[in-house]
Amino acid sequence: MRTNFHTHTERCCHAFGNEESYVSSAIKNGVGVLGFSDHAPFPDRDYGYRMKYEELPEYLRTIDESAERHRGEIQLYKGLETEYLCGYDDYYRQLFDVYGLDYLALGEHMYNSPDGDIKNIFFAQSSSDYVEYALAVCKALETGFFTFVAHPDVMFTNNIAFDDNCQRAMELIIDCAIKHDTILEFNANGYRKGICAYDTGDRNPYPYNKFWELAAKTELRVIVGSDSHDPGQVFDEYMILAIKKAREYKLRLTDNIFRQR
Ligand SMILES: [Zn+2]
Ligand SMILES: [Zn+2]
Repeated sequence: MRTNFHTHTERCCHAFGNEESYVSSAIKNGVGVLGFSDHAPFPDRDYGYRMKYEELPEYLRTIDESAERHRGEIQLYKGLETEYLCGYDDYYRQLFDVYGLDYLALGEHMYNSPDGDIKNIFFAQSSSDYVEYALAVCKALETGFFTFVAHPDVMFTNNIAFDDNCQRAMELIIDCAIKHDTILEFNANGYRKGICAYDTGDRNPYPYNKFWELAAKTELRVIVGSDSHDPGQVFDEYMILAIKKAREYKLRLTDNIFRQR
């Protein structure tokens, strides 16, 4: 069945279209299950590129209303994509217990580095940052809050030569995902970003070859996610391409993050 659990909305201020427009696109493209995963706000601080904290109840209510309107046509889920940052455990718990969230996707763009700073993986200085990043991802998965990891290979967006640190970072993320039975996402948006120039040759920023070759050798479960920022992207040609590529890697694909092994 066609499914997608990685969907943004205009609420994050860098995507287009409201909830209903993504649902319409999903139905039009034969998607049977659609999960919303807009960028989660934090209650005490605006880190940018995410919905306002005050909008959270409306976001969830709007998805509920769409689900009611389209009952029998499509199954909707209420999720959020978020970083795991220190000090917010009570908030993550509230998202489930008070706000009634169905799932959290770990989208670790910012992360806590051991020196106490909040760093952004898109601005990695060296491959040792990848190891810090991977350790932050592992710490997140230990909490049990996250159903899947969005773009677990996003660090390879950086133009940094592959070395032992990169290898270690990949192994850390894959091993802890297996250990905590967490799904990793093969992200179609990396293909949407197109071919970019790197010192070692031209390639998509992600999905990153070495990462998925390693993942394919394991029991790890993988889901393909659209990471749509426009209603037309919910199940577009890049989603179809990503599914084809994921099959070529011989990954253990699942189409539903809630389905057990
Ligand atoms: Zn993301
Ligand atoms: Zn996303």
